[in-house]
Formats: sequence, C-alpha cells, structure tokens
Amino acid sequence: MRSFRRLNAPHAAGQRAIRTFVCTNPKCEVHHYGEPPVQCYCGGIEFLRFDSKTESQHWAQLRTLEKRGRIKNLRRQIPFALYAVGPEGQKIKVTTYIADFVWDDLDGHQHVGDSKPEAGVDDLAALKLRIMEAQGDRVELLTGRFATDHIDA
Ligand SMILES: [Zn+2]
Repeated sequence: MRSFRRLNAPHAAGQRAIRTFVCTNPKCEVHHYGEPPVQCYCGGIEFLRFDSKTESQHWAQLRTLEKRGRIKNLRRQIPFALYAVGPEGQKIKVTTYIADFVWDDLDGHQHVGDSKPEAGVDDLAALKLRIMEAQGDRVELLTGRFATDHIDA
C-alpha cells in the first residue's frame, strides 16, 4: 500500500485554484481563466469548468494523448463508490471518490488519474486514494507539469 506525502498547509493549494473554462469545440479547446466567458474566440458558447488551472492543464495534456491515439475514452468527474466490510462480511458503501480523469489505454485497461497542484495530498484525499487502491483501482497522481510520457499509454 502506498503512502502519500501529506500537505501541511491544506490552503496552500487553494492559492493556485484559478477557475478555468475550456471551450468544448474540439478544434479550439482554448482555456479561459477566471470569470466564465460568455463566448469563446471561436464563437463557441459551451465550456468545461475546472476548479484549478492545474487540473485544466492536465486535461489538455490528456486530450493531446487522446487526439494522438495513445489513449481513448477520456472522461472526467467519474464517481467510484468506496466500501467497507460490515460485521457479516457484507459490502457497505461508505463514501464516494470522484476521479478527476478516467481513460483507457490501447489494451483496454482503465486508468484513473487525480490532479494535484502539489506533490502531496490532504488527509481526506489520502484516505480515499488508499481505499481505491485496496479495491483494486490504483489512482495515478498527476502533479505539476507531469510528463505525458509518464502516462502508461
Ligand atoms: Zn473556442
């Protein structure tokens, strides 16, 4: 079981939390920072909302891999139920982990990625990631400017 480097100052990450709106036009996908735009330069009016610039940058990197055909079926904000074992051995849903990104590699294996601005996680995130791993879904931590070669595609 992995251990995770903990963030001592949970609010430090928030300083970089600049909302980002990514144009959904596949030929554009320009990032707009801060306030939600009314209209994109391309004329598009639909946007994906990201809570941080880091997360939107990770999305852009994964989208590049998807467009190059190295990964497929990229999606975001995917819920996973987290279970505990009850006294009778039954599965009990305790909470939900929302994955930032889920994609499939070319062998059809599912990957789960969690976007973090720092090389560390807070206590709640660490707990959820450990339960995910115990359930057989190892979450890949995407931090800072992760190299796309790092993705096992
Ligand atoms: Zn656009």
